[in-house]
Amino acid sequence: MGKCAARLILRSLDMGDDYVEVVSCPTCARTKIDLIPIANAVNDAVSGIGKRLKVAVMGCVVNGPGEAADADIGIAGGDGCAVLFKRGRIIKKISEDEIVPCLLEEIKNLTEQKEG
Ligand code: SF4
Repeated sequence: MGKCAARLILRSLDMGDDYVEVVSCPTCARTKIDLIPIANAVNDAVSGIGKRLKVAVMGCVVNGPGEAADADIGIAGGDGCAVLFKRGRIIKKISEDEIVPCLLEEIKNLTEQKEG
């Protein structure tokens, strides 16, 4: 199994360590979903959240979960779907159009836990 480094989409210079870091894979022939718009939508939605959290948006289930094992939450794309994982463990399968709302819901839950 090959390695493919996740790329950082956003690193805020204003928020110190307290921001949601969104990473995505560089995409390749294995990419199964329309990854870049999904990653950008998540990135845009979390840009104002001042909590330390890592989110991974990966294009396939071959390398996605392994590469994002240190992320708090993420997805790895399949054919018209994705698996949702937390800290490298697959939690459930969702359809492609559920990816953004599902990630945002999970991010909301995690940030609320961190506030508690
Ligand atoms: S995670 Fe999968 S789709 Fe993304 S670059 Fe790696 S092998 Fe390709």
